[in-house]
Amino acid sequence: MENLAYKTKSIWEKADGKAQKLMHDFAKQYVRFLSENKTERECTEYALNRLKQAGFGNDFADGRYVAVLHNKSLFAMRRGKRDLSEGFRLITAHSDSPRLDFKQNPLLETVGVAQAKTHYYGGILKYQWLARPLALHGVAVKKNGETVKIVIGEKAGDPDFTISDLLPHLAKEQVTQTVSKAFQAEKLNVVIGHIPLPQKGKDKQETPIKSHVLKLLNKKYGIAEEDLLSAEIQAVPAGEARFVGLDSGLIGGYGQDDRICVFTALEAFLAVEEPEYATALMLWDKEEIGSEGTTGASSRFFEYCMQDCISAWAPAVPFSKVMLAGKALSADVHAAIDPDWQELHEKQNSSIIGYGPTLCKFTGSGGKYGANDAHPEYIAWLRNIFAEKEIPWQMAALGKVDHGGGGTVALFLAVYGMNTIDMGPSLLGMHSPFELSSVADVYYTKEAYKAFYGA
Ligand code: MN
Ligand code: MN
Repeated sequence: MENLAYKTKSIWEKADGKAQKLMHDFAKQYVRFLSENKTERECTEYALNRLKQAGFGNDFADGRYVAVLHNKSLFAMRRGKRDLSEGFRLITAHSDSPRLDFKQNPLLETVGVAQAKTHYYGGILKYQWLARPLALHGVAVKKNGETVKIVIGEKAGDPDFTISDLLPHLAKEQVTQTVSKAFQAEKLNVVIGHIPLPQKGKDKQETPIKSHVLKLLNKKYGIAEEDLLSAEIQAVPAGEARFVGLDSGLIGGYGQDDRICVFTALEAFLAVEEPEYATALMLWDKEEIGSEGTTGASSRFFEYCMQDCISAWAPAVPFSKVMLAGKALSADVHAAIDPDWQELHEKQNSSIIGYGPTLCKFTGSGGKYGANDAHPEYIAWLRNIFAEKEIPWQMAALGKVDHGGGGTVALFLAVYGMNTIDMGPSLLGMHSPFELSSVADVYYTKEAYKAFYGA
């Protein structure tokens, strides 16, 4: 009898030695990317360099266009064989990740250490950021417009930074408090120095440790305290991403939400060199704080870029016609069922790590509120593409109904009337300083995006 039931499978079950090697080789490239790109600026610069090497530039005539806004968001488009009036294939991802941003006047000195005050960026569990090595990444822009890139704490021999945590001996009251009370944002101060400047003569320094920090910053970057007012410095987990498990089947590292999609979408975009339909890649910033701001998905940058491409490649076609004919994947990560928190997931409609990239028909919460509910026709079209290329995938929703939820940038694409759905690999420990992904999912996410771009 024909088997009518549906069941997902682990990719590993059917991956032979050759397939496993292919997946691991790709994962190694991803691990390097993740280790070297820890801010939206760094990701944008990386993507721009890769695209330039592949012949993308600001000349519309050769059909390979790339534009960057404020060094933080990037749009690229490749002309297809068909006219733009027939539509395009778009994948969007975001390159910002949760972290601790330095406040604009960050430095203080008390009781033997200098610290930098922070304001956390995005959704974090504050206790995950304590008592671990942190690196500093960012830029300082001087009054004369000169931009100084800052990266400290990644290279061998570099010092790291940290937020010291309370000792258990004095945590008697803390452990009885709720998490939101026990861990306060104003205590997320990064230890940045300890040795005071030697006191010379009569002009005694009031804060000699802070003065020493400023002296070292000035020596390394030529900046003074006032330059910090216009700086963006991010404290992020220090060190490289790495393989996890005796079998090296998982990848652990910071910022996989959503750089795993940035990397796989970029690789897929570059791989499909002669697409039938025009292909586009949009890397956004500010997703983790609501997509506002000039470089976030709610800005008009994407629209301006599309208008420019239409004027260059199909000037007679109305903007609305192109946009309505577009097909998009909002590439973002999904939450895999956590082995230790299985009760929070509705298992029949949740994704399992290593079972392939996840399609998410709707995000939102409590009665699908705030969701872009992808259309059945579109999902069926995608199913067909993935079936043809034998790409494993799974359908899932985030957590149990009425137990939370979340949103992505799909809504900002949906406003144009184009077909849109969320799709990306599942992570364990999303938003933590050490998120986990599956080597198999990374590979097949890239393959799925490739199939979509080529369809
Ligand atoms: Mn995300
Ligand atoms: Mn996120």
